[in-house]
Amino acid sequence: MSHVVVVGAGQAAASLAAKLRALGFDGGITLIGEEPAPPYQRPPLSKAYLLGEMALDRLFLRPESYYAEQDIGLRLGQRVDRIDRDAKRVHLDGEALDYDMLALTTGAVPNRLPNAIGGDLDGVYTVRSLADVDAMAQEFRDGARVLIVGGGYIGLEAAAVAARKGLRVTLVEMSERILQRVAAPETADYFRALHSRHGVDLREGCGLERLTGDGRVTGAALTDGSSLDVDFVIVGVGIRPDTRLAEIAGLEIDNGIAVDAEGRTSDPAIWAAGDCASFPQGAGRLRLESVGNAIDMGELVAENMMGARKAYLAKPWFWSDQYDVKLQIAGLNTGYDQIVARRDGDAVSLWYYAADKLLAVDAMNDPRAYMVGKRLIEAGKSPDKSVIADASADLKPLLRA
Ligand SMILES: Cc1cc2nc3c(=O)[nH]c(=O)nc-3n(C[C@H](O)[C@H](O)[C@H](O)COP(=O)(O)OP(=O)(O)OC[C@H]3O[C@@H](n4cnc5c(N)ncnc54)[C@H](O)[C@@H]3O)c2cc1C
Repeated sequence: MSHVVVVGAGQAAASLAAKLRALGFDGGITLIGEEPAPPYQRPPLSKAYLLGEMALDRLFLRPESYYAEQDIGLRLGQRVDRIDRDAKRVHLDGEALDYDMLALTTGAVPNRLPNAIGGDLDGVYTVRSLADVDAMAQEFRDGARVLIVGGGYIGLEAAAVAARKGLRVTLVEMSERILQRVAAPETADYFRALHSRHGVDLREGCGLERLTGDGRVTGAALTDGSSLDVDFVIVGVGIRPDTRLAEIAGLEIDNGIAVDAEGRTSDPAIWAAGDCASFPQGAGRLRLESVGNAIDMGELVAENMMGARKAYLAKPWFWSDQYDVKLQIAGLNTGYDQIVARRDGDAVSLWYYAADKLLAVDAMNDPRAYMVGKRLIEAGKSPDKSVIADASADLKPLLRA
């Protein structure tokens, strides 16, 4: 009987295993995860869960009984530290497990502040795992002073939760503006104004010089020459793909574990999916850090393990919740040269074009614009910019055009 072993027990792993069973795979499936929790969704960690508005059991992607019912072995709290590719065997905690096909869904690791500038002080947190967030939750006391380092989505979401819980929030972003890497200046303007209205002290073009404290963080020196007293610090300065295991195994790495269009690594018996994997896109490679990508790639790998031979066609989408604003993003904005704004009261959407081609949409409290934009992008259709800019024009007919 064939045995599929999946290293990592996160979003991509859960999708891969469920899809294999849905497709009728009747061999063995074992998910091995370093974290003690069964596969769970990470997005609420910096949103509803951190806010205290979502119970722990709602984080889990499936009830634990599902895995037993589907005969999917879950080995939690165990780390795979070596792959023997010749013997088709993984090694974990002094034990070995044979595979016929192996999938790496090892996710990503958050960047930390260097110890030389105080990154190892107590009271300095990253936001990747349930354990990270449970550890920092005790710090969210009314009136506490938090410094957030990094103005990407994770930092901004943490700032929104902290402000809503009555903390005094300073956020520093060393680039000239927040969301520099991922969104247009217009989207950054929207969120800057939103955070300012909620009392966040948002400082752009200002980095962290160093954290200070004796054992535990108590202060921060900033690159604008100012200093702050802080009770704790949240670091949201990006992630890097977790390629450690793949590197030791000698697999090809290129901004993540390099896979071909079908999701196979440089070893035909080993596949990869999710945050850890980069796949061919146009003339280059792409790696996405999103739930949609983890689900779609996980499912694609399952199909291809069953012999489908399908190529991965990424359909990027993403979201972020901050205060009462839901941001939904469809497409990838890389290479855009024009933004068309559509504003209808509280609902705002920004449409990214390269010449006349629609690339992406950022929709704030505008689910209709998001839905229409996503379908247009997936269909390769580019609506007339004047229709988009006219908030009184109905968007739905564009789908039939
Ligand atoms: C706070 C936060 C908010 C987010 N918000 C959004 C959002 O709003 N929208 C969105 O689309 N995406 C969001 N994301 C991103 C999204 O959660 C990730 O893209 C997704 O979880 C990736 O799934 P994955 O399976 O590739 O990796 P992960 O979910 O990270 O799972 C990988 C697992 O593999 C384990 N592992 C690694 N190496 C080993 C080993 N050698 N042995 C055993 N286990 C190992 C890791 O411990 C981890 O548990 C957010 C992420 C975070 C952290």
